[in-house]
Amino acid sequence: MNVTQTTYCENEIGFYTVDVLEKTGLVKAIFTTNRLSDYKYPNGSWLQNYKTLSDILSISENSICATHQTHTDTIRIMTKENAGEGISRPVSVTDYDGIITDEKNLLLCSYEADCVPVFFLDSERKVVAMVHSGWKGTAKAICKNAVKKMCSEFGCQCQNIICVIGPHACKDCYEVGKELIKEFENNFKKELEEIFIPFTEDKYKLDMQKAIEISLLKCGLLQKNIYSVNKCTIESKNLCSYRRTHSKADHMLTAIMLR
Ligand SMILES: [Zn+2]
Repeated sequence: MNVTQTTYCENEIGFYTVDVLEKTGLVKAIFTTNRLSDYKYPNGSWLQNYKTLSDILSISENSICATHQTHTDTIRIMTKENAGEGISRPVSVTDYDGIITDEKNLLLCSYEADCVPVFFLDSERKVVAMVHSGWKGTAKAICKNAVKKMCSEFGCQCQNIICVIGPHACKDCYEVGKELIKEFENNFKKELEEIFIPFTEDKYKLDMQKAIEISLLKCGLLQKNIYSVNKCTIESKNLCSYRRTHSKADHMLTAIMLR
C-alpha cells in the first residue's frame, strides 16, 4: 500500500501530489503543508493561498468548494453552482463532511490537522469525492456513505472506486481514552480489537486507517484499490497536527478535482 508523492512549493506553501490518483490522467489530487489555514480561521493570507492554489491548478478561484466540517456523516453533491461556498461566500446548507461531483474543474476541498482526509475516484464513471473523517466521522463510517452515494446517485460500481487515505494521526501516535470505543460499536463489532490497540490501563491507540479500510471493504471496495499516503501528521513536522502544536488555525488543505 504505497503512494508516491512529489513536492513543489509556491509562496512557501508545500504541495504534495497524490500520484496514484494523478497517474490515471483523470484528476488533480493534492494536499498542502501547514501553511494553508482554512476559512474558519482566516489569518489574512488565506485568500492569497487560494489564489496560489488556483494558479497552480490552472483553475479559476471561483471553481473551489469545501466541506463544511462539523464531524457529521453527511455527504453533499456539489456542482459549479456551489463553487465558492465555504471559500469566498457562505455555504448554502450546513453540516456536511464529504462532497462529491462528476463535474470537471471543480476543486473539492477539505481541511485536516490529524483527522483523516479520504480521496475517492471512480475512473469509469468519472466521479470524485473528498471526505473529512475525524474519529467521529470514522466511528460513523462516513466513507461508507460516500461510496453509497457515489453508487446511488452517479451509478458508480464499488469495484471501480479507488480510494486514498491521506495524512493523519497514525495508529502509533493517536492516543485515546476507552470511552471512545462505544462510539464505534454501531459500525464495528468484532473488528473493535483491530481498531483499538491497548496501550495503558485506560488508554488505547486508535487506528483510524484500519477502521476506514474495514468500512470500505465491507461496502465492496477491492483491497487493491485502497491506498494510503502513509504519512503521519503528528510525526511529520511539515504537516498540520493539532495534537502536536495545539494550533486551531493551522489546517492542511486536501483536494481532488476532475480534469
Ligand atoms: Zn504517527
